[in-house]
Amino acid sequence: MRKYAGKILILLFVVVNIVLWLSFLPPDNGRRDFTIKIVSEVLASSAIILMACILFLATKARVLEPLFGGLDRMYQAHRQTAVVALIVVYAHTLTIPVLADGSVGTTLGGIALTGLIALAVWALLPRIIRAFTTYGQGLVAKIPPSYHLWAKIPARYHLWRWFHRLIGLFFLVGIAHLLLVDSLIRRSPVVFGYVIAVSAAAILVYGYKELCYSVAQKKAAYIVQDIRKLSSSALEVTLAPQQTKLSFRPGQFLFVYFDDERFPKEPHPFTISSAPHDNHLRLAVKACGDFTHAMYAHLRAGARAFVDGGYGMFDYRSGGKQQIWIAGGIGITPFLSWMRSFRGTLEYDIDFFYNVRVPEDYLYVEEIQQIAAQYANFRPHLSCTKQDGYLTLDNIMASGKALAECDIYFCGPLPMRETFQNQLRQKGLSTSRLHFEEFNFR
Ligand SMILES: Cc1cc2nc3c(=O)[nH]c(=O)nc-3n(C[C@H](O)[C@H](O)[C@H](O)COP(=O)(O)OP(=O)(O)OC[C@H]3O[C@@H](n4cnc5c(N)ncnc54)[C@H](O)[C@@H]3O)c2cc1C
Repeated sequence: MRKYAGKILILLFVVVNIVLWLSFLPPDNGRRDFTIKIVSEVLASSAIILMACILFLATKARVLEPLFGGLDRMYQAHRQTAVVALIVVYAHTLTIPVLADGSVGTTLGGIALTGLIALAVWALLPRIIRAFTTYGQGLVAKIPPSYHLWAKIPARYHLWRWFHRLIGLFFLVGIAHLLLVDSLIRRSPVVFGYVIAVSAAAILVYGYKELCYSVAQKKAAYIVQDIRKLSSSALEVTLAPQQTKLSFRPGQFLFVYFDDERFPKEPHPFTISSAPHDNHLRLAVKACGDFTHAMYAHLRAGARAFVDGGYGMFDYRSGGKQQIWIAGGIGITPFLSWMRSFRGTLEYDIDFFYNVRVPEDYLYVEEIQQIAAQYANFRPHLSCTKQDGYLTLDNIMASGKALAECDIYFCGPLPMRETFQNQLRQKGLSTSRLHFEEFNFR
């Protein structure tokens, strides 16, 4: 229930808006289109409230994490709220003749709407493409080869991220539209005050985040102490604190950037694979794009790193005694931090399934086995897709665990997680005990 608190709060903001409209209706002054105008403005103001919530969620504010169940879930809620907001805005446009009068107010409304739709489509494009490739094989075959070109543009995260920041600007344009068009809301001071107050708060918070946060935020300064190539695409980075140590819980992640012109200044998220009692931070990183390839190729001991964290609420200690852990590829990182934090008696009975694509991808196997040798109730099961086929729920059940009584912790590629969710449903089991970390904010 607690992880839904944030979404309920967002809904509450919208409900308050509707209740205020119903309680403080403006005078109708004999307008023929009064009812449709009210409906239209309730939709518009609800969309503005939802957009304001989107801006709040984009701020990474740590105080909001418990309401959503972690920063990854906050970004998920940000995405979902954006989709709902756009549907509501669309419904609003259906109730009015769009851009009919060519006034500044309506033109601004058109600009805000177009900008927000463009940003939302770009943000959702990787998911839309994935949905097509997964569920619409036939359709994808009909997409021309040039698809491959434009598909690469949205993959450039920092480019997308730069444009995505304009969301606040389009929101402001939307507010200007509200103030300039002939609207009923201005004749209902309570509703008007509520919508403007929520919007102003969102703009202030968002403006602070985008303009002052990087200066005001105290980031912990670290030095890259050691770099170790773990495979042809994975590396381990060990960071030593320059002054204060970052405080975090096992399984949490941080944002890091390096003081080196070869790396984009955009901070990137990585799970901390070391234990909190270690003096150093350790990251295991898989090279998959610009930043991580640059890390693999150019990062050297002595580079300055700035970290911000720990974020996230992925924690096996919030589960029951019987547990199954599933790691896919580089998704091993939170589990490493958990294992490295074992102290004294382990109170949980854990079967740990670590699956990689090819044998070369196995990381830290020796260390995992050493930890297992110390804890009889921690049993690792290693598998490699190339040799053993895909890891399935049936393989996991063969370990003798009663799935219905277990909390399952998962970190790995999205398709792998979706497969497990489907297999759980097929077996008539609830997916609510599958806890996972989203490795993808977009
Ligand atoms: C909570 C969390 C924990 C993670 N832990 C690890 C880990 O322990 N080891 C590991 O190898 N990878 C981890 N990742 C993934 C890692 O952050 C991305 O692989 C990396 O940022 C890719 O950047 P790139 O420029 O190399 O690739 P790109 O091709 O530019 O990006 C690939 C994808 O990575 C994501 N991404 C890129 N930049 C950012 C950013 N600045 N902020 C947020 N997301 C971004 C986007 O979804 C993007 O589509 C984690 C991701 C998240 C969200």
